[in-house]
Amino acid sequence: MRVLVTGGAGFIGSTFLLRTLDRCPGASMTCLDALTYAANPATVTELARQPRIDLAHGDLVDFAFVDDTVRRLRPDLVVHIAAETHVDRSIQDPLRFVRSNVDGTLSLLEAVRRHCPSARFHHVSTDEVFGALGDLGAFAEDARYNPGNPYSATKAASDHLVRAYVNTHRLRATITHASNTYGPRQYPEKLIPLMLTRALEGSPLPVYGTGMQVRDWLHVDDHADAIWAVIERGEIGESYNVGSGNEHTNLDLVRALCRAIADATGRDLASLEGLITHVADRPGHDHRYALATEKIRRVCGFSPRVELHAGLSATVRWYLANPDWVSRAKTADFGRWLEAQYAARLAPEAA
Ligand code: NAD
Repeated sequence: MRVLVTGGAGFIGSTFLLRTLDRCPGASMTCLDALTYAANPATVTELARQPRIDLAHGDLVDFAFVDDTVRRLRPDLVVHIAAETHVDRSIQDPLRFVRSNVDGTLSLLEAVRRHCPSARFHHVSTDEVFGALGDLGAFAEDARYNPGNPYSATKAASDHLVRAYVNTHRLRATITHASNTYGPRQYPEKLIPLMLTRALEGSPLPVYGTGMQVRDWLHVDDHADAIWAVIERGEIGESYNVGSGNEHTNLDLVRALCRAIADATGRDLASLEGLITHVADRPGHDHRYALATEKIRRVCGFSPRVELHAGLSATVRWYLANPDWVSRAKTADFGRWLEAQYAARLAPEAA
């Protein structure tokens, strides 16, 4: 089996590639990735050590490159994971998100339609396309799309393109909408690795607003396994929610992370929690996301396995054991981004 995975050098993509290596001993895999800031060189080296994974380095927006790669490989399975993914960056630079997430998805769909129209195609999307919920209820797969920020709007657009190709060209595609994902190899701009790496340095932990926003936390191994379950057992043209039922406010989550760090390092819990600093909120910050997950359980037999506190402890241990990965994520670009995003928010006069 020939598998093409876009975004395989990122957080979820690398986990998916490495787990698929174990799962499919006969598969040869190609990771198509632009190696943006979100692709850590240490992850790329880890993938390059695997004889059954090749790298096709290029941008999805470059149609000639995508078309040539798909024509050359003629994959049996295409798993589209690449995207610009950080909501805060989408507020600062939305055009980049439209290019990668909308134009990039269209490039890939078009190349697959031309060169391997019967390939199985899976598109990785997010719960954020449904927008924010109040304190009760959960979105089912057929909920109305109502994206609340530029990132989720571009993901919604890419979902529509995938569905259009199913309808128009009989593309054999499925979609997953997953909740907030955490675990090893996640770039430290996202909540858990941001707080974790800053807590280990003794830096303030910037929590947006009151920290009362609610998210459902899914371990990356469960996310990767859910994608596989849908590829194997999902029905063509259907979408599947992937959640864990681990709903927490951001503030409680950061406190749970501080506990996991204290347990792993012997540091004083009160000092770690003392680093929590409430800062000006993200504009248009969605209050709560939650998903109904009965469909993926019933149709694909998938249930998440990783309990949140065990997953957080394992994540803390992974970051402690991989200082090289962390230092290679902390580039000059990352420093500039942190400065732009948090310096004014953390300044004493902002308190
Ligand atoms: P990530 O930011 O860690 O990695 C994204 C990868 O895509 C990187 O390797 C990057 O180099 C690559 N990429 C970006 N733009 C590209 C382009 N134009 N051409 C080729 N490659 C490009 O992202 P992630 O957190 O692993 O998310 C992966 C997917 O999962 C995304 O589609 C995202 O919307 C979805 N998702 C993420 C979460 C989450 O909490 N992280 C939750 C639900 C869904």
